[in-house]
Amino acid sequence: MKIGFTTSFPVEVVIAAGHTPIDLNNLFITGNAGKFVETAEHNGYPRNLCSWIKGLYSVATAEHIDAVVGVVGGDCSNTHSLMSSLKDRGLEVIPFSYPYNHDREFLSNEIEKLERYFGVAHSEILQIKERLDRIRKKLITLDELTYRENTVTGLENHLWLVNSSDFNTNPDVFEQELDSFLEECEHRKPLDFNLRLTFLGVPPIITDFYDFLLENKANVVFNEIQRQFSMPYLEENIVDQYLHYTYPYSIFERIEDIKVEIKKRNIDGVISYSQSFCHRQIDNILIKKYLDIPVLTLEGDQPGPLDARSKLRLESFLDILRG
Ligand code: SF4
Repeated sequence: MKIGFTTSFPVEVVIAAGHTPIDLNNLFITGNAGKFVETAEHNGYPRNLCSWIKGLYSVATAEHIDAVVGVVGGDCSNTHSLMSSLKDRGLEVIPFSYPYNHDREFLSNEIEKLERYFGVAHSEILQIKERLDRIRKKLITLDELTYRENTVTGLENHLWLVNSSDFNTNPDVFEQELDSFLEECEHRKPLDFNLRLTFLGVPPIITDFYDFLLENKANVVFNEIQRQFSMPYLEENIVDQYLHYTYPYSIFERIEDIKVEIKKRNIDGVISYSQSFCHRQIDNILIKKYLDIPVLTLEGDQPGPLDARSKLRLESFLDILRG
């Protein structure tokens, strides 16, 4: 079965059950994203709602998905209503929640519920976790090449890490392609840039964001949330893995992780991205308060290239950093 999901969750369970996990976000952004948004609006989704939610609705209904795991706690409150409209369209919906307060027992119960639903034993998901962790170690190498050797572009880093949420639906093929990429990087010379940036927030809906920065001699050497999707902590226990994962919890856990990485990666400036109509825009207040480094907030709305105003803001920010 093709099991869609709305954001990262213990994907090990779905793979252990012999199903194909599909991150609906990846399907949306790599497909005809503008059309997906338009279709959702045609079906009554409001204009003043985040484009990702509209995209998820359209891909789930258009791409022959058998069931959808909706992360209804720890991600996006819009997911509740999205799940209702998918159910109404005849899709099976499976809720999953992260505990706001980091409650270990709560999370353990949620994972057990998934195991029961998909009919897999805990020992089976641990075997899959071991398998996936071998790939995740290689993603850590890729991330290190990005900030230590400067041989990987911000876009490449983004794509590999973001696609690790579902391993492009096939971990074996993903690993083969990753091996080839890492080998290719060994022969590369360092990239030509003189500003080291951090990208915070949900992955950008903007298509030319990283290219624009690199053209202006700035490379993103830390993609915060994408790195979180790659589960870089390699915890022994699956519950600990998803407790350590910062994205579904409060901004304070994220800030703690961001501060460590900013220091380690010798970052010059931060771009904190958020989506129009997203509740996560509020987090920028605390990001600016607690990060002791220049921060530019950037907003994206519709899928597509950077608009003239955003380009101007980015250019001015880079000038300030250079100044
Ligand atoms: S960007 Fe924000 S509003 Fe949009 S789906 Fe993600 S969490 Fe929800």
